[in-house]
Amino acid sequence: MPRRHILIGGGPGAIAAAEAIRGADDGAEIVLVGADPHGYYSRPGLAYYLTNEIPEERLFPFTPDDILSLSLNTITERALGIDTAAHTVTLESGRQLAYDRLLLATGSRAISARVPGADLDGVVKLDGMDDARDIVRRSRKAKAAVVVGGGITALEIVEGLRARRVHVHYFMRRDRYWSNVLSESESRIVLQRLLSEGVEIHAYTELARILGSDGRVAAVETGEGTRIPCGLVAVAVGVRPQIELAREAGLECARGVLVDQYLRSSDPDIFAAGDVAEVADPHTGHRVVEVLWSSAVAKGRVAGLNMAMEPTHVYEQGPPLNVTRLAGLYTTIIGTVGSGADADLEGIARGDSQVWSELCSAAIVEAQRGDAHIRLALGDGIIVGAVVMGDQALSFPLQELIEAHVDVSGIAAALEAQEAPIVELVNGAWADWKAQRA
Ligand SMILES: Cc1cc2nc3c(=O)[nH]c(=O)nc-3n(C[C@H](O)[C@H](O)[C@H](O)COP(=O)(O)OP(=O)(O)OC[C@H]3O[C@@H](n4cnc5c(N)ncnc54)[C@H](O)[C@@H]3O)c2cc1C
Repeated sequence: MPRRHILIGGGPGAIAAAEAIRGADDGAEIVLVGADPHGYYSRPGLAYYLTNEIPEERLFPFTPDDILSLSLNTITERALGIDTAAHTVTLESGRQLAYDRLLLATGSRAISARVPGADLDGVVKLDGMDDARDIVRRSRKAKAAVVVGGGITALEIVEGLRARRVHVHYFMRRDRYWSNVLSESESRIVLQRLLSEGVEIHAYTELARILGSDGRVAAVETGEGTRIPCGLVAVAVGVRPQIELAREAGLECARGVLVDQYLRSSDPDIFAAGDVAEVADPHTGHRVVEVLWSSAVAKGRVAGLNMAMEPTHVYEQGPPLNVTRLAGLYTTIIGTVGSGADADLEGIARGDSQVWSELCSAAIVEAQRGDAHIRLALGDGIIVGAVVMGDQALSFPLQELIEAHVDVSGIAAALEAQEAPIVELVNGAWADWKAQRA
């Protein structure tokens, strides 16, 4: 009998698992249960859809033929429960599906504002395609909007609204943007760019209430009692892994579903991947939740292989990586770069890793070189983290040097010197390393 795999999800975690299972076992039966009617698309790409830079069609990484080639049985429905003893999943329609191995790749969901008025029509979030369409539709009427939050998604909404000529009030709890990940200078660069785009920034400002008229958003009130009229309120204060199914099935959970190095949960036939999986970092021992596309793919691949065969593939937690855009500025964030500042979010942000919120004890080199703002975290003879904003020429060399733990002790002192030629030193170390490998 072929083994029957049920994958609950539909994002990169589940799709990468499906590819791995199919690659390892031609005859396996794979059933993909996903609640999103739009199927598999790029959630990071929604930012570019909001700014009108790409049409909706470009958000889909797979053609219908790619999906066909995986021979999946796709069911567009929400899974409501798992009976671990009977090895069955119950869907919203009441249908029951039996499994041999199950994958949970249910992603994460935006935390809603816990203030009066949060349920008014016109309070929005950005979790997926329907939310993005909703923001686009509402931006046609709204003259002003309030955006609350500290991570990437908040800025993506700000920029989407600005591109659609909506006046934006951006609320920050403190005076720094994404303070637990970015340095003071990086945060300032982002905020200056937002100001030059006409965004009205309100530092040290809490959203206290959302005020409505006829059930629709009409204004907000800040913690200090100031009223700001607006037709739209976007909340991006962080996300939480969607662990409800796992918890109700009796699986061990903390912030996410707890998994071992094989990405297996406390039930040996149930695996987890993507945003919902909480994995121990072999370097620090800390359990880490990551809300990163690349991590979801890497975890999905390993979980899929272990589901198809006996679990022998170990998930190696690499340095977290995000190449994103902040206020129009391409930005690479990799490895250990956290500033250790108080988190300005309730949950983890999208495009974020818990690794980044931890204080980085390495020596920091930070400088502007040409069109790039560069920050390096120098550990014991290696570069442990980096942020590159603007010109991305150093992004790939740094990704390779950090991922391969390349010994850079020969240039460490030079990097830390005043006015150090950082670009040349990093490129030189990268070239030397590549030459040694050739
Ligand atoms: C606006 C936005 C911007 C982002 N920007 C970045 C970025 O710059 N860089 C980056 O690396 N990452 C970014 N991310 C995060 C990245 O998209 C996620 O980390 C990644 O999609 C996680 O993949 P996943 O497979 O775990 O879950 P998801 O892609 O979230 O997919 C989970 C799926 O499971 C479905 N589901 C949930 N519960 C059930 C159920 N009970 N039954 C059936 N289906 C269910 C959901 O409908 C969803 O379709 C961004 C995400 C968003 C939304």
